Amino acid sequence: MNEKSIFTKIIEREIPANIIYEDEKSIIIEDISPQAPIHYLAIPKKEIKGISDLSESDQGIVDHLMIVIKNEMSNQGINDYRLVINNGSEAGQTVFHLHIHILANRTLGWPPG
Ligand code: 5GP
Repeated sequence: MNEKSIFTKIIEREIPANIIYEDEKSIIIEDISPQAPIHYLAIPKKEIKGISDLSESDQGIVDHLMIVIKNEMSNQGINDYRLVINNGSEAGQTVFHLHIHILANRTLGWPPG
């Protein structure tokens, strides 16, 4: 059996993290190495390696995350934020369990590096 991802270990409370939000399908945690004053990770509980690994049966997972992110940021009164998904190591992906970065509370340059 494949080794659990670091995020699955967090979801299963094997390792600690600051949990911002959780429901049956998703979790939002604080990034351990924040790149902005607010840097969260929205993660589906289903261990999908990345966007390239989504299949038809995953229909609904990413839009659920989007609604959860919108609600959480709205609850926190944060209107301006950037969502990032790194797909593949050349794009900067280091944890191969799909996640959406949520960055806020600083001015973010464009184009990203
Ligand atoms: P990626 O580079 O795959 O797009 O993003 C992975 C993110 O996970 C990085 O921003 C990294 O700081 C974060 N990360 C890696 N390990 C841990 C951990 O053990 N706990 C938390 N909270 N974040 C982690």
